[in-house]
Parts: sequence; structure tokens; C-alpha cells
Amino acid sequence: MVEKITTSQQAIDMEARYGAHNYHPLDVVISRGQGPFVWDVEGKKYYDFLSAYSAVNQGHCHPKIIAAMMDQCQKVCLTSRAFYNDCLGPYEKYVTETFGYDKVLPMNSGAEADETALKLARRWGYDKKGIPENQAKIIVCEGNFHGRTITIISLSIDPEAYGGFGPFTPGFIKIPYNDVDALAKALEDPMVCGFLVEPIQGEAGVYVPDDGYLKKCYDLCKAHNVLFMADEVQTGIARTGKMLACDHEGVRPDILILGKALSGGTMPVSAVLADDDIMLNIKPGEHGSTFGGNPIACRVGIAALEVVKEEKLAERAEYLGKIFRDEMNKVNSPMIKQIRGKGLLNAIIIQPTNGKEAWDVCVKMKELGVLAKPTHQHIIRFAPPLVITEEELRDAIAKITEAILSFE
Ligand code: PLP
Repeated sequence: MVEKITTSQQAIDMEARYGAHNYHPLDVVISRGQGPFVWDVEGKKYYDFLSAYSAVNQGHCHPKIIAAMMDQCQKVCLTSRAFYNDCLGPYEKYVTETFGYDKVLPMNSGAEADETALKLARRWGYDKKGIPENQAKIIVCEGNFHGRTITIISLSIDPEAYGGFGPFTPGFIKIPYNDVDALAKALEDPMVCGFLVEPIQGEAGVYVPDDGYLKKCYDLCKAHNVLFMADEVQTGIARTGKMLACDHEGVRPDILILGKALSGGTMPVSAVLADDDIMLNIKPGEHGSTFGGNPIACRVGIAALEVVKEEKLAERAEYLGKIFRDEMNKVNSPMIKQIRGKGLLNAIIIQPTNGKEAWDVCVKMKELGVLAKPTHQHIIRFAPPLVITEEELRDAIAKITEAILSFE
């Protein structure tokens, strides 16, 4: 018989006993969500300031997205790509028109979409740029986070991500993030086919590069006949105050990688977008996924993007993000070392004080009804659903402030 969860502790104990220990969650057991809020098993209400790492930009259980999902669930859920389905074409048309590309390749997780982009770049390098077989290289940035597969951790410089998982995939050049000169030097290698970059490094701790960085990198890539590939899995879909973070600098990536909020957090939906010159080098049978482009994902993907446009979530993120940073900058506490971010993707860098660290701040915020989680020990990321109202945001800011000031 399946045990019914009636207390938070019961759920925590069960996960510890039966689940792999590959996460260290905050002690809160969520059983319901709506808009910017979640509720725990005991019925306590919280602001969700993580949004499942920016997957829930449209808010929890957005009625329009859920309606599309439920409607499709009752028709057909999965057909595989062995056959056509009547949802994929309309989704492909909608998503390519939305972002302005010739073609889309649908996948599920962000990591898979990044893997797809790496394959596309290598294939383009061989078929179009004329790189000799097995010689292609891709430039990546230190501090990156693109997922957890073997190839993707091969790009990482974080021992927690790659340590003990070798041997690694060759063919990558790692350069410092936000360093145009380093890119210029690396691009001198004629075997380079692509440059993969996050417009803001989210997992690393919301590192915002200098203004103009993306545009300079893009121009350098063009000058060297190298593909500019943007991983917008976390920054895309309105999170940073524009539909794409690259839009802040008017950069149109050659390969665009999306995930997370492409489904409004309802299921894994990711996508790689590119023009024909790049996309059509991959032929039938050379890449794919059982669930990629499934009918539910397609319906959900359209609804999720429609919500972003209809509810002007990019504009909201831009407006509310400024309020968040302005208000937090007014807080006078030795614990606040720095506040940085764009739109509603922000971080507070915590200076440990009186033996209290970022984790303690998150535990205190949880008590006060705001959920966030430290990344890399001393950085707390704040990324609420973009549907949060100004009043709710200000209420949450008051609670965050109270938590930080409680340690003085
Ligand atoms: N790329 C970026 C920029 C991410 O932030 C993440 C996840 O946090 C990923 C890729 C991996 O996505 P997923 O966890 O869906 O594989």
C-alpha cells in the first residue's frame, strides 16, 4: 500500500531512506502551488523565490497552461517521432515565429538541449566550415552550468559537478567568463566551430557580465566563422526583463537553447532553435528523443509562451526587478555584501556574520514565509514567479529584510 503523507517530517524521512542523496533541500515539503505561492503539508503558505530555478516563470499551475495540458492528456499523450502528431507542427510554427528562427529541434531537459546544440555545432563545423573529422572544438566559459550529463560536466570547472566522474569528453576550450580578449585568443584556433555561453551565469551565482560583452563576443564569432550559441535555459522566457537575455544587447544567437519555463514548470520541455544552414545538417535517424515533441509538450509550450506575451511578463520582470534591487540596496546590514541581477533574476551575496551564513538566512526566510536556496555557499538567488504582484513583491522584500536583520 502507498503510504499517505500527513506530516512534512514523514516525507523528509521517506526521501532520506529511499531516495538517492544527490540533493540537500531546505526542510520544507511542498504539497500545493498557485501563482507565486506554495503551501507545505501542514498548510503553511510561502512565497516561492526560486521558481524551480526559473522554470515556473508563469507561476505555479497557471490555469491556461494546465487547461492545455489536461485537454491534450485526454486526446493523446505520446506518439513518438515514428509517426506524425497533430500538435508538433503548430508548435514548431509558433515557437520559430516567436523567436525568429527557421527551425526548432524539440527535446525535454535543458541538459539534452545543450547536448543537442553541441552536436549541431560540431556537425556544422564538419559539413559547412570544413573542419577535419573529429577535430572540432567548442569554446565554453569557466563557471558555466549547462546540466549534468557526462559531456556537459566535461565543460565544468566545478569539482562538485565533475569530480569523480571522469573520463571526460574532449574537444572543449575553457576560457574565463566576461573576458572578450580570452575569447579573441581562443578563436584563433581554426578548429573552433562554436562558442557556448550563458548570457548571465545563473547557477554560478547570477554573474551578470559587463554591458556589451555578448555583442562583442557575437561579433568576434562572426569574424571567425564560429557559431554563437546562447544557453538561455535559465535566463530566457522573460526572466531577465526581455524575452531573451540576449535581447538586452540586440544579439541573435546562431543557436538558441531554451528549457525550463518553456513549459511553465509543468513538465520537461526544451528546444534548440537555429536556421536551416545549421539545423538541416542533422539528417533523419541522427538525433532524437522518445518524448521530445510529444503532443502534451507541444500544447503546453504554446500555452506557456502565450501566457508570457499576454501577461507581459518580460515587462513585469524588468519593472519588478528594479524594485527588488532598489529596496534591497536600502537595507543596511553587514551581511549584504552585494546585490546583483537583471529583471527578476537576482542574487544577494552574503557576508557571513556572527557565525551565520547564507543557509541560515534561507532557514530564517523560510520561517517567515519566503523560500530561496543558497548557491555556492554564500550566494542566495532570488527568482520569484514573474506573475508576482508589486504588493506581493514588497511584502516578500519586507520578510527577506527581516530575516537578514535578525542576525545582527
Ligand atoms: N542550462 C542552464 C543555464 C541551466 O541553468 C540549467 C539548469 O539549471 C540547465 C542548462 C540544465 O537544465 P536541466 O536541469 O533541465 O537539464
